[in-house]
Amino acid sequence: MQLSIAIPSANCSYLEMLSHLHCRPATLLTFSKSFQIYRRTKFPSSMASISTVSTEKAASSNQDQPTQKTHLPLQVSPPVPASISAQFQDYYILVRCCVGLSKFDSSFRFFVLVCWHSLKWLNLVAKRLEKFKTTIFTQMSMLAIKHGAINLGQGFPNFDGPEFVKEAAIQAIKDGKNQYARGYGVPDLNSAVAARFKKDTGLVVDPEKEVTVTSGCTEAIAATMLGLINPGDEVILFAPFYDSYEATLSMVGAKITSITLRPPDFSVPIDELKSAISKNTRAILINTPHNPTGKMFSREELEIIASLCVENDVLVFTDEVYDKLAFEADHICMASLPGMYERTVTLNSLGKTFSLTGWKIGWAIAPPHLTWGVRQAHSFLTFATSTPMQWAAAAALQAPDSYYEELKRDYMAKKAILVEGLKSVGFKVYPSSGTYFVVVDHTPFGLENDIAFCEYLIKEVGVVAIPTSVFYLNPEDGKNLVRFTFCKDEETLRSAVERMKEKLIRR
Ligand code: GLN
Repeated sequence: MQLSIAIPSANCSYLEMLSHLHCRPATLLTFSKSFQIYRRTKFPSSMASISTVSTEKAASSNQDQPTQKTHLPLQVSPPVPASISAQFQDYYILVRCCVGLSKFDSSFRFFVLVCWHSLKWLNLVAKRLEKFKTTIFTQMSMLAIKHGAINLGQGFPNFDGPEFVKEAAIQAIKDGKNQYARGYGVPDLNSAVAARFKKDTGLVVDPEKEVTVTSGCTEAIAATMLGLINPGDEVILFAPFYDSYEATLSMVGAKITSITLRPPDFSVPIDELKSAISKNTRAILINTPHNPTGKMFSREELEIIASLCVENDVLVFTDEVYDKLAFEADHICMASLPGMYERTVTLNSLGKTFSLTGWKIGWAIAPPHLTWGVRQAHSFLTFATSTPMQWAAAAALQAPDSYYEELKRDYMAKKAILVEGLKSVGFKVYPSSGTYFVVVDHTPFGLENDIAFCEYLIKEVGVVAIPTSVFYLNPEDGKNLVRFTFCKDEETLRSAVERMKEKLIRR
């Protein structure tokens, strides 16, 4: 796209206001376009020089940094003074040009004022979150609705959670359990979480001192990071990583080091890990079973990570929300490895196991010295979580073993439909051991990258998948991979496969 901007030579008397101006490319574009139209109608030929600006669409076509703000490369003469920092250069140019024009027309001064005010109010996002866009899951689910596409993108079941849990929530509301809960969780839920943890890992934890109930695992992750990481601390992530990790660490002000897990088996590159980890590393975040790949960290990998953490005195934050969706291997909880409990925060939730992702009940299990930090942050993030849902969650965790067995059986049948279907469509499907996700290589279909493929898939085929490049610090690493979910009823999965068989053509 081309933009033309007139550059008058007037000195800008409003320079101070630049320091308040801070806007996204899209706003700038709108501003510039209206400016162009205005200029055409009002000042057809009076402006001195014209400079050409090329712009790029921010998210979808910029493969290098799809989650980053795109800076518009405005080229001007005379050049922008070096004292104007890069992020304000666009505005400097616009304002300089507007101020110059205002000498000619008082109505234009009004126009500038209106634009400036809209820019000012539209662009107050704090720098630590500026580069993050609406989550890819929200974007894709909105596109699914818009295009009537089958949503195999965002990981939420299109079937309901168990009746006994819903009944427990209704009962709790009727019983008047409707006021603030105790900040770190209603006693029955803390106890139920501790009991479940003991059953799963053999570890005995104190429900009062070592379990903190949060608003979903996303809040548990945030409270853990905010409560235990200082600005400037180094944290290691394995890419691809769930999107909230990076955004939350950015809110903390942490320094992220990412280690890429590569197909086909997404195994941990031990040598890279050894050279990344040091005494300066504050924490490492693992996620097993792993979203988006379905990888499950092997005992050997966990043991190596554990010994490196002990050696370097590093904390471990472990997101295990898919622990009950472990199909091809037994789930191993990092905290259960010798010597690890004292340095580990185990994060989990109700949503995936009970098909109730909208309830947002999560928890963090950690020894008291780490729980203290988690609770400090949690107290001032949300203070407490929905009371009746916590009581219902306590009931859910009493579910008999048969519930978990049936859940697994159901999901294995769904997985078989999707995996076989994707193979028959022509994808290279990477093995997924756990979670309700599977990652494929889309390149047989000839689209240039994951985002282009997903756009094509939604618009031309009517199916939604998740592009994985957004889960990497270096998006190039994910450009061949897209993620499908199978947490949908069997008919939906079959229809999606049929659509792809019919309309996706290998190139
Ligand atoms: N965990 C879900 C997934 O990976 C998405 C949750 C969300 O939309 N934030 O699909």
